[in-house]
Amino acid sequence: MKRRTFLLGTASGFSVLALAACVAPVPVPTPSASPNTLTPSLVPQPLTVSRTNWSTDAFSRGSFSYAAVGATPEHRTALGQTVDARVFFAGEAVAVDEPGTVRGARASALLAASQVQDVAAPGERITIVGAGIAGITAARQLVDAGFNVVVIEARDRIGGRIDTVSGDWPFPIERGPSFLHGASDSFPNDELTALGVTLLPFVRTPEVRTRAGVVVEVSPLGAQAVAGALEWAADQQRDVSVERALVDSGEARLSNTPNAEGLSNADWLEYEIATRFKVETGATPSQQSAWYTTNIANADDDQIVVGGYSTLLTADAEGLELLLSSVVNRIAHDDRGVSLRLGTGESLSADRVIVTVPLGVLKDAAIEFSPALPFAHRGAIAALGMGVVDKIWLRFDVPFWDTAARLWTIVGEDADFPVWVNMMPLTGEPILMGLVAAENATRLSELDDEEFLAAALTALEPFLAVPDE
Ligand SMILES: Cc1cc2nc3c(=O)[nH]c(=O)nc-3n(C[C@H](O)[C@H](O)[C@H](O)COP(=O)(O)OP(=O)(O)OC[C@H]3O[C@@H](n4cnc5c(N)ncnc54)[C@H](O)[C@@H]3O)c2cc1C
Repeated sequence: MKRRTFLLGTASGFSVLALAACVAPVPVPTPSASPNTLTPSLVPQPLTVSRTNWSTDAFSRGSFSYAAVGATPEHRTALGQTVDARVFFAGEAVAVDEPGTVRGARASALLAASQVQDVAAPGERITIVGAGIAGITAARQLVDAGFNVVVIEARDRIGGRIDTVSGDWPFPIERGPSFLHGASDSFPNDELTALGVTLLPFVRTPEVRTRAGVVVEVSPLGAQAVAGALEWAADQQRDVSVERALVDSGEARLSNTPNAEGLSNADWLEYEIATRFKVETGATPSQQSAWYTTNIANADDDQIVVGGYSTLLTADAEGLELLLSSVVNRIAHDDRGVSLRLGTGESLSADRVIVTVPLGVLKDAAIEFSPALPFAHRGAIAALGMGVVDKIWLRFDVPFWDTAARLWTIVGEDADFPVWVNMMPLTGEPILMGLVAAENATRLSELDDEEFLAAALTALEPFLAVPDE
């Protein structure tokens, strides 16, 4: 079933029909049906499956932050402000440069650790909430500087959103981040290489297929329309959503007339939104700021981690005082220090605290702050968005596909998993990683594992090898 994602405006708060009335011609929005998930697929059943559900994960409540309409980089700066020199913040959402990434999270932690060092006396007790990359980085920095540090982590493991799984898999699979952007001598590329973790070059040129399995050339029309809309938005008096920018700039006014392959110009805009925008931000175009949306330019020096991303944390975590399986639900401070209450009812005291929990946890007020956080912090927490991207990893007995392309995408249909990574040419193993993002991910988060798998296998049908005559 086709669906005009950017015209559906699921979270835009304004009438889609009203929007549609403003432009002509417009595709007629078709409400998305609940997926016919249990229809048996022609794609064979995999041997091993691993599915993520970051939006329902109590200690993440989403995948990474994004700039919602009206949010600015200053909101991230505001969230990173120290409260009374007692409560400090770090984590990907606080990073002004490269938010939503491992690199950004680490940079924010180094900054928070240096802010603590500026005000703390030698030997002070510093508590860090969260043992992801931000928490472990800040802890290492402060321990090495001579502070008495304890890290409190809700999960029974360190790493947070860096979530590597081995066991049933011939190589470690990544349920969180997989990709590295930027130069090989920049973090974390340099550290992973130094640790002997396998990184493989990943060229993001996709093989594009229609639902019927026909391989087609990517049309630049979708990317051009988005670029034009963002350029238009940059000249406006106030921020609008990417969806609004597409419509009001006229860039969304693309023909619906299908060509011989059954694809219209409008399909290529849908394609751009589904395979790049939503996957990079975890948000719909109606949610994203046209001024500050993530820069999704392709880089030709991208790499994919296949040797265990979590190795990154092992060395830094060595010797740290870690309290695992301990949920912090209240942080109180006064001019004498900080007191933290755990889910067990126990309390801990410290001189200062660095809070590195994900934005989703802060948005849901899963931790009570006493006194309440300053207005600027609360405003920033409300303004920034938490996107959702989920993954499914599938290991097959033998490949059911015959393409050697590494990146597979689907055009001309509302595939819940519009992007797939084929690990076969990279590792020799018939393993695929699928991505589902934004409102598709939120909808699929409610499915049980069997239904989720069925939706993934259905999305893979265009890649079934054509049997020999
Ligand atoms: C599917 C997916 C794909 C991604 N892809 C990429 C990519 O390709 N490249 C990239 O650079 N980045 C990617 N990211 C983003 C990257 O993973 C994050 O930006 C980064 O890992 C965040 O680190 P952090 O330390 O800020 O947060 P986290 O790793 O989430 O650490 C916060 C910690 O706080 C803990 N916590 C939460 N609540 C409590 C509580 N109440 N008490 C105690 N502890 C608590 C959590 O359990 C967690 O361990 C991806 C993320 C996801 C989910």
